[in-house]
Amino acid sequence: MQRLSSEKASRRSTYLSFQPPAVGEEEIEAVAETLRSGWLTSGPRSEELERRFAAYVGAKDGVALASGTAAMHLSLLAAGVGPGDEVITTPITWPATGNVIVHCGARPVFADVRDTDLNIDPAAVAAAVTERTKAILPVHLAGQPADLDQLLALGIPVIEDAAHATESIYRGRKIGALSLATCFSLYATKNVAAGEGGMVTTDDDDVAGALRNLRLMRRGQGSLYDVSVAGFKANLSDVLAAIALCQLDKVEEHAEIRRRHVAAYDAAVAELTGIRPLARDPRDRHALHLYVVRIDVEDAGADRDAYQSALHEENIGTSIHFLPVHRLTYYRERYPDQPRLPVAERAGDEVLSLPLSPAHSDADIEDAIDALRRVHARFAGR
Ligand SMILES: *Cc1c(COP(=O)(O)O)cnc(C)c1O
Repeated sequence: MQRLSSEKASRRSTYLSFQPPAVGEEEIEAVAETLRSGWLTSGPRSEELERRFAAYVGAKDGVALASGTAAMHLSLLAAGVGPGDEVITTPITWPATGNVIVHCGARPVFADVRDTDLNIDPAAVAAAVTERTKAILPVHLAGQPADLDQLLALGIPVIEDAAHATESIYRGRKIGALSLATCFSLYATKNVAAGEGGMVTTDDDDVAGALRNLRLMRRGQGSLYDVSVAGFKANLSDVLAAIALCQLDKVEEHAEIRRRHVAAYDAAVAELTGIRPLARDPRDRHALHLYVVRIDVEDAGADRDAYQSALHEENIGTSIHFLPVHRLTYYRERYPDQPRLPVAERAGDEVLSLPLSPAHSDADIEDAIDALRRVHARFAGR
């Protein structure tokens, strides 16, 4: 093994978290100010977030919700998804993407992914369409837009899981208003992080109106109230919206830090046999939410699990995005006749996400790279 001169010999002294939040004094002050304002539930700050988030993604409207999961669940309901319907989605996602289909009483139909970027394969989607297909729910994995043109061409409503795609641009068009509803997450690790929260952006007034009815029982006039729909309690607190507003102010600054980190990873991983990043399409803007590599057991000398444990021993935190949802216990038991999805199943054994957060310094990422080089030298033995 040819040793690179920059490579350090020993492991990092403190644990490097996988994706720590990047909050500063601005967020702390904004929370304090919100608490002093006396308005804790949804109010002026969540309304401001709706306007500013929609403006950032170029959509007509935004609806703030309690989570990305609620954003997808209520969007499916707004699209009329219910019992007897099928919704086609990707197996390479967080289980919430499948769960929300189940919550609507519909059946999740998993279509296989492309080997390049692990986004849903439009040809597999086309093959899975039946007369019961009510919607398609693609994920922009890691921040790489799925092939929306091909999905939209099927003529079935598309609702996007854009939890990773806040900054993404697909063929020159910003992700946020390209389909019926685009669902973002404000979870603690996401590119705009409030701790918890979600946002749906849409150009469709009916969808926005339905979401506002579904998220909260609205107040009526005077002391009277009435309900026209059995709504959920899925609105966003102003305390969290205040954090999200600060994060939105920093979204491009944070993206620039991650872009630097990703460039360092790309250069390092290019030297390591059997380890390669997911493909990023140069025609698009990738949101760089995750840096996912695939570990080929033959060429890398060990499997993903061995690499993950060895990196943990090196004090480097990693994560897995994702295990195929259709192979998880609930889905195997509830839908025992799921077809095999060979591309997704192989990927589920190979993917490993390296530390990536604007809270990391360049030196932190160099530590992660040095550790990966040491582990690779040990396993690949060259
Ligand atoms: C985070 C995430 C979600 C869920 O978002 P929450 O805000 O945690 O409910 C959904 N899909 C994907 C792909 C995610 O990464």
